[in-house]
Amino acid sequence: MIQLEALTKVFGDGPDATTVLDHLDFAVPSGQIAAVVGPSGAGKSTLAQCVTLLERPTSGRVVVNGDDLTAFGERDLRVARRRIGTIFQSDGLFARRTAAENVALPLQFLGVTAAESRARVAELLDRVGLAHKAGHYPHQLSGGQRQRIGIARALALRPSVLLSDEATSGLDPDSTATIVALLKELRDELGLSILFITHEMDTVVQIADTVARLDHGRIVESGRIVDLLRDA
Ligand code: ADP
Ligand code: ADP
Repeated sequence: MIQLEALTKVFGDGPDATTVLDHLDFAVPSGQIAAVVGPSGAGKSTLAQCVTLLERPTSGRVVVNGDDLTAFGERDLRVARRRIGTIFQSDGLFARRTAAENVALPLQFLGVTAAESRARVAELLDRVGLAHKAGHYPHQLSGGQRQRIGIARALALRPSVLLSDEATSGLDPDSTATIVALLKELRDELGLSILFITHEMDTVVQIADTVARLDHGRIVESGRIVDLLRDA
């Protein structure tokens, strides 16, 4: 479960101050996919950065499983961030490492034993349907497959929340459909809370349980996707 409470981000101060996120209230219950959709400049990237506290919110709270991350110092934050897996538009894979090695990286940083890591990586590759690509390098994979490896890596530390920042943007419709199906499977089987940030309304309709429309740093409309579609 992730809750954003009056989340606000102001860049600069005095006459140069720009309010990029303005008191956002928003929750992603466990086992749900909540989309935030909005045009370029709406504040989506800033939101993604604030949720992981890579950017400190000016005020408001980011609550993950009951803990307010904005109250944490850097050391506690490093640990707490493991609860949030992130995927981006760029898959962020290391070109000179195989799919399996890329997925194993977060485990290595934590000093998980080699045997445990191997087992975990095999399970994760299987989960994203790419067990047969373990030894392939990123350039030998399609964009959609690379994104699935990115998802496997994001799951390596068993997060309870998955943050997807434009993860399907730039993918062809088939690859997007595969990613959408995979994220729904993760929602249903692992009970993840998935915050799905995108500018693509088409994808929102396919994937989301609830949607919030962000414009100029404010949520201008929100609700269950079925209700919004009915009213549209
Ligand atoms: P989106 O991802 O929806 O395109 P962004 O979060 O990138 O939106 O940007 C939203 C607004 O915040 C834009 O007007 C942008 O210029 C402004 N902005 C983003 N980062 C900064 C910053 N570091 N300093 C000042 N303004 C910023
Ligand atoms: P169990 O509690 O019996 O492990 P789960 O349904 O919780 O059953 O998990 C099934 C499998 O999925 C386990 O192998 C577990 O490691 C993995 N798993 C569970 N939660 C997560 C998560 N949040 N991210 C990645 N993998 C997970």
